[in-house]
Order: sequence, then structure tokens, then C-alpha cells
Amino acid sequence: MSFHNPIGSGCRRDGGLMSTLAIVGASLAGYSAAQQLRAAGFDGRLVMVGEENRLPYDRPPLSKDFLTGRLPAGELALADQADVDALGVDWELGRSAVALRPGEAAVELDDGRRVEADGVIVATGARPRPLPGAERVSGVHLLRTMEDAVALRAELVSGRPKVAIVGGGFIGAEVASSCVELGLEVTVVDSAELPLADVLGSRFARLCAQLHAERGVGLRFGATVAGLVTDANRVRGVRLADGSRLDADVVLVGIGVRANVDWLAGSGIDVGDGVQCDAGCVTSNPAVVAIGDVASVYRPELGRRVRAEHWTSATQQASTAVNNLLCGYTAHEFRAVPYFWSDQHGVRIQLAGEPRPTDEVTVTDGNVAERRFLAQYTRDRHPVGVLAVNHPRAFARARRALARHPRYVPI
Ligand SMILES: Cc1cc2nc3c(=O)[nH]c(=O)nc-3n(C[C@H](O)[C@H](O)[C@H](O)COP(=O)(O)OP(=O)(O)OC[C@H]3O[C@@H](n4cnc5c(N)ncnc54)[C@H](O)[C@@H]3O)c2cc1C
Repeated sequence: MSFHNPIGSGCRRDGGLMSTLAIVGASLAGYSAAQQLRAAGFDGRLVMVGEENRLPYDRPPLSKDFLTGRLPAGELALADQADVDALGVDWELGRSAVALRPGEAAVELDDGRRVEADGVIVATGARPRPLPGAERVSGVHLLRTMEDAVALRAELVSGRPKVAIVGGGFIGAEVASSCVELGLEVTVVDSAELPLADVLGSRFARLCAQLHAERGVGLRFGATVAGLVTDANRVRGVRLADGSRLDADVVLVGIGVRANVDWLAGSGIDVGDGVQCDAGCVTSNPAVVAIGDVASVYRPELGRRVRAEHWTSATQQASTAVNNLLCGYTAHEFRAVPYFWSDQHGVRIQLAGEPRPTDEVTVTDGNVAERRFLAQYTRDRHPVGVLAVNHPRAFARARRALARHPRYVPI
């Protein structure tokens, strides 16, 4: 079976035959790429290499309904077995890619085998940054994988542990909310003055702090973690730089992630804070594209690369990247409006666009006090973002309107 460049307006159809494609990373972005390839008519061999020994599953519930016990592991699969089978993928699960041959599309696996491919889709995502010195301390958790979530939940539901969360970003806030639902005493520590202020701006960051406080979450913002208190390698608390101590039986560290690019060392692919891509998710090797949390994609309108860590970007980039890979050059640019949501303390927060804390912000619908509103961010009188709290319909309309702004119209 083979595939001659296929689809898409602007594709020159002269990129040569492609009979095998390798997708590295078997999660949301990788699975989306496989779907897009088959939808585009690629009927060649598709090999998907995944470090985790399980079929692709959804991560967002790991900090929310899975942690509280509302959603069992069996319901996290990204697709049912029939859809997975229909993709006709050769799965290499429980296997890591350890190298990519320079200038080629051959992927080396950790068992010494090599997947010879005509093109590679890099979808290796990111992993949480550990707290220095806390890597092997029992009771200290990171949260990225199902295994991480199973281990964290096991500790949260045994006895009534006191929980400290280092990092008040989305993961930290959602885990704090889940801990409250589980009836646990929980405190969030962050060096910032307000939670999520760099993303939402200070007005709505204050609202997030209020949500935490109303539900009984302890807040230690503007506080720096100096280290952990341990006893026989078991965490007993968190030491703060001001000399105070926070007792804790369980600590969750949510201080950001690092893109999984190490395996690309020596491949000739440009990497930095992620795989460096052009505006079409194509790397410095035209036979290699990158998508999802690992991809740092050039945004012409911003004049720089952006690495998005959002569910929706991982799925949307797959279509652009796959089309460009099959074309053999960058025929399409990725221009979708960035979007993410977060569920915390019974509130759904949705944000689209790229607001900055310094933007002007106006509530255009609903009421902040009632925790149901829509707000628009503008910069130099241009719309740059929209935020909704418990107002999904108004948000959907505003997001569509933002997508009509020239900056987001695909070329
Ligand atoms: C707890 C949690 C909650 C979240 N909640 C939200 C939310 O509410 N809203 C939202 O918009 N986003 C949310 N996200 C973010 C969203 O899940 C990610 O953006 C999305 O998972 C990115 O998909 P990805 O496929 O790019 O990367 P990943 O999901 O990280 O998958 C990458 C895969 O590649 C594998 N891999 C890595 N290196 C190799 C290698 N060398 N060889 C083979 N395989 C490798 C990894 O093991 C992993 O399975 C959440 C994330 C987490 C962790």
C-alpha cells in the first residue's frame, strides 16, 4: 500500500510516495493524527509508539472526576475498541522512541528495533516538573498519567490525609477542588500573589482565590517553598521560605511541565522549549511534524513560537500537521483560536484567545457576583480574548466571533 500526496487546497502533490508513517506518542495528539491520516485517505502502514502501556485515554478527568471517584478508569478511553480497530494501527505500546535518525524518518525503539518510516509525527507531550529534592520522597506526587492519578487517589482516600499542593495553576486548583469534594483539608502554596493572575488577569484571579477560600481551601499565596519536612523518607509537611511549616501527609507538586524532547537529541531537529516548528507544525526536517503539548509552533501574527498545553490545540494541530506532512511542505498554517477550560469548585472556566494581564477587560453578559458571566479582553481596541464562568452558550458565540478576527483566519 502506498500513498501519493493527497488532499487539501494548495498541496502540490509532488512529495513522493509514502507507505509508512510513524506516530511517536500514543495519547490525544497522536491518536488525533492517526484519525486525520485515515480520514485523509492514507491507507499505508501506520505505526504508533507509546511509552505508556495502554491505549490512548483522556487526561483532563485525572484531576477532576477520576480523582473524586465519579469516573472510573474504564471510561477514560479516547475511543471505543471498534474505532481503535478501524484505524488499522500497528501499536507499539509500552515502548519508547529513543532516537530519530538525522535527516531521515527512522525511529529507534528502546528494545533496539527500528521503525523505518517515510514520515514521523512527534506527539510526545510533556511531563511535570518535579520539586527539586522531592523526587523520591514517599507521599509526594506529580500528576500527568493514569498511574500518577491512581497513586494519588489511593493516598487521598486512605485515612484523611492533610494535603498540600505546591503550585496554584490549573492542575493545582483542580486537585484542590477534588480534595474538598473528598472532604480533605487542603492548602495551596504558590509564590504568585494570586492564582492564575498571569492567565486571567488580577480581577478574575481574585475570583479564583475567593472560590478556593469559600470552599475552605487554605491559601498561602506569595509564599516560597524552601523544602519538604520528611521523616524516614515520608513527607510530613512543606517548609516555607519565611520559616513557617505546613503539615501535610500528601503533597501534590503542580509547578508546570517540560516538553518531552530529550529523545530527539542528535536528530538534527531543532528543539528548545518544545519541538521548534514553522506555522504549519513542520520541523526543520520536512518529513517530521510535531503536534500537541510538545510542539512549539510559529505564530506569524505574534512573531514568535507558542507551545500550547491545551486539549483542543492537540486535536486541531493534528489536522494541519498531517496535511502538511502528506503534502511534503507547509501548505497550511495553524491558526485556531487557543482555547481551554477548567472545572474547579463547581464552576466551569472557559478561556479563548490570548489575553494578557494588562488587557482591558469588560464584563459583557451576566454577573460576576453570581458566578455566571462573560468577559471580553481587548488590546488597542482589538478583541484578544474571551472568558466565561458558567456561561457556556454565550462563550461559544463569543469564541466563534473571535475566530473571525483576521489573526485566526486560516490561510
Ligand atoms: C491532569 C490533567 C488535567 C488536564 N485538564 C485539562 C483541561 O481541563 N482542559 C484542557 O484544555 N487541557 C487539560 N489538560 C491538558 C491536556 O490533557 C493536554 O494538553 C493533552 O493531553 C496533550 O496531549 P498530547 O498528546 O500532546 O500529550 P500527552 O497527553 O502528554 O501525551 C504524550 C504521550 O507521549 C508519550 N511519550 C513521551 N515520550 C515518548 C517517547 N520517547 N516514546 C514514546 N512515547 C512517548 C507519553 O508517555 C504520553 O503518553 C490536562 C492535563 C492533565 C495532565
